[in-house]
Amino acid sequence: MSIKAINGTASNGKNPLISLVIPVYNEEDSLPSLFGELWPVMEALKRPFEIIFVNDGSKDSSFALLYDFYLSHQQNVRLIDFNGNFGQHMAIMAAFSNVHGDYIITLDADLQNPPSEIPKLIAEMDKGHDVVGTKRANRHDPIYRKVASKIVNKVTNSITGLKINDYGCMLRGYSRRIVDIIANTGETTTFIPALGQKYAVNPTEIEVAHRERAHGTSKYSLFRLIRLNFDLMTSFSLSPLQWVTMSGMIISFLSFILVAYMFIRRFVIGSEADGLFTLMTIQFFLTGISIMSLGIIGEYIGRIYKQVQKRPRFVIKKIWEDQDEQQA
Ligand code: UDP
Ligand code: MG
Repeated sequence: MSIKAINGTASNGKNPLISLVIPVYNEEDSLPSLFGELWPVMEALKRPFEIIFVNDGSKDSSFALLYDFYLSHQQNVRLIDFNGNFGQHMAIMAAFSNVHGDYIITLDADLQNPPSEIPKLIAEMDKGHDVVGTKRANRHDPIYRKVASKIVNKVTNSITGLKINDYGCMLRGYSRRIVDIIANTGETTTFIPALGQKYAVNPTEIEVAHRERAHGTSKYSLFRLIRLNFDLMTSFSLSPLQWVTMSGMIISFLSFILVAYMFIRRFVIGSEADGLFTLMTIQFFLTGISIMSLGIIGEYIGRIYKQVQKRPRFVIKKIWEDQDEQQA
């Protein structure tokens, strides 16, 4: 039976089914501790649950570890195996297209957000919140990332009009309605927490614990982080483009006044040749703005290019699931 056919058969709401979604990319060092910490928490919920792991093209032994865990927990575990590395957000997207639950919770595999925080999110969802956003209390990451995130959080909120205090915290809760909306957006690159917030009717935000990465290293290089943030900003707003237009208009207006002044000055005082370096500085500054503006326009064109290519956002090699359990 195909997964699609049983989508929509979420339980009747009295005892909501919990779907926990975990993207995994080269996490062989973290997975054994994750399994050990996660399982008791899920069992203690005393609710029906499924865990969906998405192997995002890991090159280490992550798949083998996930597959073993799946084999020994088939009733509650499903495993989506990607054809290659499509990124954390696409891994979550793939799981969102295949969830069965009423409450969907996303968690990173590296245990930076402890699984013991999951019940807190469920309690908020029980109160009727359709999106439970989170903020990392005492974030344990390198200082450069914390400073960069502070700036990104502020800038992104002002550009997108969203109100999210911590875009990067991925331990979050979404109702099935929100997840279905997110899964049906056709964007090739996106940012899941921002999509959730955009479509939320009754969102809330809570603090969750954060720890240092105990095993392995971050899967985001500086370049990947910058790319991800460009995706975030260009997916949710056109205002960077509007700034380019506005600053072009303001600079043109000021230059026009300067030209008029120089023209009159030439007749009244005569020509001038001083101030060469001032002129060069202004010119460098304007060249910088021009190149940046081209880059901003390029970001949007790049998104359009990806979108018109209509390539699949992710390619699933195989979904491992217990057929008997799924059909029951
Ligand atoms: N991840 C993924 N695909 C990627 C990069 C990361 O599935 O291309 C997963 C990774 O295995 C982890 C989560 O996304 O479960 C967050 O990654 P990481 O902890 O490296 O990010 P950070 O905490 O440094 O922001
Ligand atoms: Mg992490």
